[in-house]
Amino acid sequence: MGHDRGTPPSDWPGLEMVDMTKLTDDIYFGWLAKETNPTFWHWCKALEGVPEDKKVHDGCWVAAGTSAHTLVSREPLHLEPSLLWRCCGLHGWVRDGQWINA
Ligand SMILES: [Zn+2]
Repeated sequence: MGHDRGTPPSDWPGLEMVDMTKLTDDIYFGWLAKETNPTFWHWCKALEGVPEDKKVHDGCWVAAGTSAHTLVSREPLHLEPSLLWRCCGLHGWVRDGQWINA
């Protein structure tokens, strides 16, 4: 517990990730043992202001896989097409290891 904005979770049961990498203050990615593609955490602005007892977990970090995306390059990270999280509308590309807002 205690996953505040500065510490995205990397050790949740079933979501233990390695090489957690920061793209922006709000977006991190890491690698699950059994997944070829990275799994992302984003700080979901749609959850800001939601009472703690209404949330699945504390803080606003939301996990999402990218299995539908093409892993163009792992290092530096490059995924196509763009990533869109419908929960809050966060949308952009990851190319050359950088987040590019759409
Ligand atoms: Zn979101």
